[in-house]
Amino acid sequence: MAEYELACGLEVHTELSTKTKIFCSCTTEFGGEPNTHVCEICSGMPGTLPVVNEKVVEYAIRTGLATNCEITQYNKFDRKNYFYPDLPKAYQVSQLYLPICQNGYVEIHSSKGGMKKVRIKEIHMEEDAGKLVHDAYSDCTLVDYNRCGVPLLEIVSEPDIESADEAVEYVEKLREILQFIGASDCKMQEGSLRADVNVSVKPVGSDELGTRTEMKNINTFKGIHRAIEHESARQIDLIEDGKKVVQETRRWDDSKGYSYAMRSKEDAQDYKYFPEPDIPPISISDETISLIKLSLPELPDVKKQRYINEYGLSEKDTANICSSVYLVRIFEKTIEVTNDPKESAKWVLGELMKLLNDTSTLPENMNFRAESLGEVINLLKAGKISRDSAKKTFKAVFEEDVNPQEYIDKNNMGLMSDTGAIKTAIEEVLANNEKAVNEYKDGKDASFNFLIGQSMRALRGKAPASEVTKILKELLG
Ligand code: ZN
Ligand code: MN
Repeated sequence: MAEYELACGLEVHTELSTKTKIFCSCTTEFGGEPNTHVCEICSGMPGTLPVVNEKVVEYAIRTGLATNCEITQYNKFDRKNYFYPDLPKAYQVSQLYLPICQNGYVEIHSSKGGMKKVRIKEIHMEEDAGKLVHDAYSDCTLVDYNRCGVPLLEIVSEPDIESADEAVEYVEKLREILQFIGASDCKMQEGSLRADVNVSVKPVGSDELGTRTEMKNINTFKGIHRAIEHESARQIDLIEDGKKVVQETRRWDDSKGYSYAMRSKEDAQDYKYFPEPDIPPISISDETISLIKLSLPELPDVKKQRYINEYGLSEKDTANICSSVYLVRIFEKTIEVTNDPKESAKWVLGELMKLLNDTSTLPENMNFRAESLGEVINLLKAGKISRDSAKKTFKAVFEEDVNPQEYIDKNNMGLMSDTGAIKTAIEEVLANNEKAVNEYKDGKDASFNFLIGQSMRALRGKAPASEVTKILKELLG
């Protein structure tokens, strides 16, 4: 059997975090009663005129700069015609001829080892369509136009991706970048980041790309991975059987784990694009680009390198923290409070990750004061609470956003800081346990542990273990 290699390109759609839609002032808020976030413009009434939301252009430029693109300083909108009930105008306003960003790349780990660039062909601005609701009634389909006109960026890669793992890392990379620069919250479960996956296979070493198929709107990392693995295997089977791969759009059913043909041969010319006559071309000055460049925050790749170099974190720990901008925010705030990057990382990767997992909470839905974790760590390090109490307190922070110090006071979890009082209690324990004291002095080490246990009990666990050990050692000489 010949060996094959995969060539995969992704079109990633992301909803932008603007308050209002791309061409009108309707809200972009997710959900809401069907057809309440609509007006004459986004529902496509005749005679209305769209006005471009400046914020959309700014986010597009930010995204382009963060992905090493050239900004098309003179760019235009076009109409992409297709008839579908969720698209009231029967065309989507998008960019075909002069997209706002071109020729960029992001770096990912290559499946063959080392790093590689996935080239970005272009990024264009466009409007989202509405949503069809099929399952409310058995005999009809409902349409909700709330999502019509929500601004999207479509990020189109070249077919540089050579494995399902690379595809997932590429989308993770884009997600990090979009979150870091504030362009999108990338809530995949709400569809604000979704990928169309183009897959083809070719014999190893061949320069010519095989026939590709496309699977649209996959919105989980697992789905992307499974769809690529499954589709490339299906194509290899066809070729091995002497059959041909047909260029078509296939629908990936992630619950069933297979794809089926939807429609065949679809290319740009099928849409009969034409220039949008109601929106003037957009002209972007050098100054605007420099200003936006200056306003970009530290980007994920640079941040990761800094965590490794400055904080001495491992590549894996760094990747875990940087997987979500919300984790990064907590981590950096915790360092501000504790001045201790290593210990802060330990808590974020340990207790915080555990709580997120145990409660199936996504990092973006964390809901506690960012300073609290640092405060808990400081109390622990100062010997004011035990490690157990620190964990309990942080759990309460995570679940109910309690104030750490108040919670500790209220639950009487504070440790004794009065060394004199601790000493008095231990002296009493030694007086009552003469036998163990003598055994210890005769060289029986186990007696020391016994005396620690007795002392902790006498102190009702209210003294820091390190302090008790220290005083005990002093008293025993
Ligand atoms: Zn509207
Ligand atoms: Mn699109």
